[in-house]
Amino acid sequence: MKMEQVSKSCFAVLNQKNRMCDANSGLINLGGGVVIDTQSDLSHARQMIELFGKVWPGMPHRVVNTHEDGDHVWGNQLFDSAEIIAHRTVPNRIPHVADPRESQELLNGVSRVFSRWILRVFHPGVLAIATQLQQDYDFNDIKLALPTTLFDERHVLNLGGTEVDLIYVGPCHQVGDTIVHVPAERVLFAGDVIFRQSAPIGWAGTYEKWLKALDLIIWLDPDVIVPGHGPVCGIEGAMEMKAYLEYVHEESRRCFDRGLTVIEASRRTDLGPYAQWHGPARLYANVERAYREFRNEPADAPWDSAKTFDAVYSVAKAKGIEVEF
Ligand SMILES: [Zn+2]
Repeated sequence: MKMEQVSKSCFAVLNQKNRMCDANSGLINLGGGVVIDTQSDLSHARQMIELFGKVWPGMPHRVVNTHEDGDHVWGNQLFDSAEIIAHRTVPNRIPHVADPRESQELLNGVSRVFSRWILRVFHPGVLAIATQLQQDYDFNDIKLALPTTLFDERHVLNLGGTEVDLIYVGPCHQVGDTIVHVPAERVLFAGDVIFRQSAPIGWAGTYEKWLKALDLIIWLDPDVIVPGHGPVCGIEGAMEMKAYLEYVHEESRRCFDRGLTVIEASRRTDLGPYAQWHGPARLYANVERAYREFRNEPADAPWDSAKTFDAVYSVAKAKGIEVEF
């Protein structure tokens, strides 16, 4: 984990492995301080606090959660005196999609010989992701601290005269997707609307909304974007994410029209330049989402996570690439 100063008052903490759960955090060091997203577990949240602590005058008065995924909210409890801000949908979604006990149960499973054996035979993808997460994460002792200041379309913060805009753009990657714009410093914190140099996974939302959110970011024309995952970038980060989504959507349509299943389509779709990204076989989730749209299924239809991890595993194996989530 490292800290990067991205403008006069804005900072980012980046998890450089850029795999599943390696989410970034941001800091706007003005008007009492705002932290954007709080990491995946308590030890990462404490590291983030230590890094930002080098530049901030004290614990921040505010936290923004860009959406409801665990890797962006599980450090919230360490900011117990801060106002926690998010889109109106987020507090209801967190207990459903970000239950830390479920994730810890997954990690505990790989530590027990018998369940490890069961997983190896029946759920090799679940075993692979749990083994990967176990290297860096420990979801014990996380208590959900839910956002209390909620907004609908837009929320403006005035940080000692500097305006910060929270703009709701979901549901695109998740239901609660929010971007945080600091126009005076030409900085934008994109949450998981942008994954940089890693394949995105969207859970609830539509391609249409996601592309619209990226168009909005391009229109806002920031100099610096802090993505939800991966290194800091400029506007090219939004353009590349758009190109990826358009490519996968088109390829999925072609495969859908030919009657291929999601898994067949994912195995056949050429990764092209995206083979260099982290977790390229996460492509499966994006093909699955496109298929859900083609079948007119609801954008928030639940995911079978074991099935998803096993499918990503099988796509990586079929392509002969390293299994990485
Ligand atoms: Zn996310």
